[in-house]
Amino acid sequence: MSTLANSQFTTVRYVGRFAPSPTGPLHFGSLVCAVGSYLDALAHGGHWLVRMEDLDPPREMPGAADRILRSLEAHGLHWHGPLMWQSKRHDAYAEALAQLSAQSLLYECYCTREEIRQTGGHRRDLCRSTPTGTTATAALRFHCAGASESFDDLWHGPQKQEVCEDPILKRRDGLYAYHLGVVVDDIYQGVNHIVRGADLLDCCGVQRQLFRALGQKPPVYGHLPLVMNDGGQKLSKQNHAAALDDQRASENLVKALGFLGFHCPAQLDRESPQAILGWATARWQRHQVASRNRQLHEH
Ligand code: GLU
Repeated sequence: MSTLANSQFTTVRYVGRFAPSPTGPLHFGSLVCAVGSYLDALAHGGHWLVRMEDLDPPREMPGAADRILRSLEAHGLHWHGPLMWQSKRHDAYAEALAQLSAQSLLYECYCTREEIRQTGGHRRDLCRSTPTGTTATAALRFHCAGASESFDDLWHGPQKQEVCEDPILKRRDGLYAYHLGVVVDDIYQGVNHIVRGADLLDCCGVQRQLFRALGQKPPVYGHLPLVMNDGGQKLSKQNHAAALDDQRASENLVKALGFLGFHCPAQLDRESPQAILGWATARWQRHQVASRNRQLHEH
């Protein structure tokens, strides 16, 4: 086992998680992901963890992390074990980069955003042949382009993904990048089932490569359907999806269950969030969940 792993959850057969970025409050689309990952974990006797992905301060909204956590609690979505904050994990990310570097899987990239835009991609051969330490502000890229990953997604079935570009793991501005934080922390927390939104399905190829390079078996993946707005875009903080109203937690949960394929009895939304989640955990079946993204009123 890799030295990156934490033994706390490794004896549990199923460890799942919800990993929001504090760029804004939870909206209905994020509730669907939280509820889907929670139910899949609990229905399989697993642990469900929450990790705050506060890796990118310029994109964060002040107060959003606390608001997200309060919303989860108001909706009865209580997590197992301690909450993890990515902002406190920089040493682990540096250690993982050292591990990749020792395997010659990391190289410095000097391309500016403008150069990448002009050439339609970063100039891999040029970067790889430039001696390290050429400038102080290099990004670090993970050497994995050309690799291919085949796996089964719980809802999208057999997948084959080719990695076309070496991803950045540490940015020129010194910030650690999403792929690195996610994989290092999933390993550390013993996460072996990742249930998240379908917008992240395309990240699996790179992330699976990173799991292997860090000495771990990639987890099981399930990508839930996305909730779309009337304009056909994914509900997201970027397109100003409405924040969840925590005062209407039971109604929100019943709506999320409907989106996930449940036929809820009338009056279920008069029950407490805890009772609603208990009802749904006992009835969760993966095949009920349709994989197609859709608007809320379509199911
Ligand atoms: N933090 C990411 C987001 O909010 C999710 C990461 C993941 O689930 O792998 O979109």
